[in-house]
Amino acid sequence: MRKFALLIFLSISAAIALSGCQKPAQRSGDFSLEPEQMVNLYYMAGTFGMTVTVADDRIILSNEDNTVIIYPEVDQVYVNNQYIAPLGRTRKIDGMLHVRSGLEEQIRSSFKVEIKPIVPKPVPVPKIPPKITGATIVIDPGHGGKDPGAISTYGFYEKTVNLDVAMQISDILKKQGCNIIMTRDRDVFIELEERADIANRNRAKLFISIHADSCNTKNANGFTLYVARNASQAAKMLATSIDGQMPQTGIKSRGIKQADFKVLKHTRCPAVLIELGYLSNYWEAKQLKNQDMQRRLANAIADGITDYLKHK
Ligand SMILES: [Zn+2]
Repeated sequence: MRKFALLIFLSISAAIALSGCQKPAQRSGDFSLEPEQMVNLYYMAGTFGMTVTVADDRIILSNEDNTVIIYPEVDQVYVNNQYIAPLGRTRKIDGMLHVRSGLEEQIRSSFKVEIKPIVPKPVPVPKIPPKITGATIVIDPGHGGKDPGAISTYGFYEKTVNLDVAMQISDILKKQGCNIIMTRDRDVFIELEERADIANRNRAKLFISIHADSCNTKNANGFTLYVARNASQAAKMLATSIDGQMPQTGIKSRGIKQADFKVLKHTRCPAVLIELGYLSNYWEAKQLKNQDMQRRLANAIADGITDYLKHK
């Protein structure tokens, strides 16, 4: 009887194999499969305070102190020219390389300088440069009210993420002595022209618009900074300054682009629009709703703004 059952089992297995009937491939965004064992490479680089460069046969993570070189094809990882471990299992989720999470500790322990994980910043110590104190900055959380903006792959709205991050930027900058005006501080609809007018009426020094991206290609990822086509040199400097702080988020930069969004075109002061990341990308959508990531984004943007004010 047992032999008979085994025979049936074997013939079913053979039939499945022959018909090529396999379990459908996992959807690329589905990280329900061992999610705790894999870590997004960009995210890992962010926790090291490193930027990522992808070359032909290698991926380079680097900052001033250390350089990590990963050779995926030969399965090797080097830190500061010393072999430290095999790369091991990897997965591509939404076009982004994920590596085994154990690698993070192996790399970290090989650094010259011990780099501690990013912890929430303490309240900034006063000793505020005069250029920052009293600077009027308009922060504009995109969309609101009847206009939800993009809808994330998990169903939440862009308008909510924009507001969450914008309010945190406001809190950080207020503590540093800036005079912050929000175009909205709750879920209401405001016309685009009115948003720009708020900056113009208040003779704002800077205008920062916060959005999150979306597109049909699920693999698209990263944040983008926009200035108007005829943007002033100051606006470009502001964008560069914010871009320079964003590696601390672990989200990849898509660079600074020029586009005549109404809020950029109609503001008289230097204006930058930030697309925080892609709500159409599974990993980023998840990150954009994550409190730790929202705090990192707010810190990076606030740091970029204060950096600009200090050096301008
Ligand atoms: Zn938007």
